[in-house]
This record gives sequence, structure tokens and C-alpha cells, in this order.
Amino acid sequence: MKVFDLVCPDGHRFEGWFASADRFHAQREAHEVKCPLCDSSDVHREPSAPRLNFGGPSPIAPQSTPPSPTGNAPVALPPFSRQVMDQLRRLVAQTEDVGPRFAEEARRIHYDETPARPIRGSATDRERQDLHDEGIETVTLPIPRALTETLQ
Ligand SMILES: [Zn+2]
Repeated sequence: MKVFDLVCPDGHRFEGWFASADRFHAQREAHEVKCPLCDSSDVHREPSAPRLNFGGPSPIAPQSTPPSPTGNAPVALPPFSRQVMDQLRRLVAQTEDVGPRFAEEARRIHYDETPARPIRGSATDRERQDLHDEGIETVTLPIPRALTETLQ
């Protein structure tokens, strides 16, 4: 959806919601876009940049990002037992989060370019395969996002 700031010849300003800029132009050509105050169809876009809305069918509702596990974890997970959570929490606390630089850091550690230390981060399947091919073994763990956020 795009929101355009529109203005009529009388200077009334209003917002129009359109699927795309093309749709706006088509509807404007067909005189379907009218000023809500004076019904004029001679409307123009204000020179401001269009705002993008990434929402679904109800554009006003705020979008909340569903919490998802980090890394390449499977989506459907059984509830974590307290024991597993404690182990994961310890692991998170003892490792340095290098985020998307995981593959790069793992490689530097392997080749003694940086001090060896336990690290965690995210890596693509391709990156992990490349590491494996170089003899660098990694472990993929489904670490719930909430667990890492509480520590940072
Ligand atoms: Zn008007």
C-alpha cells in the first residue's frame, strides 16, 4: 500500500490509499479520486515522498514481529524444559555474540588470526557447509530470542 498526500485545486489536503502509484494514476484518470470536501476530481499529489506501509489488510494496526528463534533453527519446537533452558542460558552467557559475522569469526579463530573463544551467531546453511568443508565444526542450536535479549 502507498499513502499519497493529495491536494485539490481549492487547496484541500487529504490522504489517499492506493495499491501502487500506477493504481493512483489510473484511478485519477478515471476521475475516481475525489476531494472529500469539494468532490473535485482534479486532484494532485503533493510533492512529498510517498510513505510505504508494509502492513497487511488493515494498514492502521501496528505490526508486531512474531518472536522467532535465531539462526537456522526449525520453526516448530517443543516447549523447552527448564533444564534445557538453563543449559542454553549458560551457553549464551559463556559465548560471545558475533551475530552475522559468525562464519568469518569461526574461520579467524580456526586459523589463529584471533584469540580462541566460544562464539555464537548466525550463519547460513551455505556458510556452515563451507566451514565444515574447511574442517571447522559448528553446532546449530535453537536459542529462543527471548533468552539472548534478556542478557543484552
Ligand atoms: Zn477540495
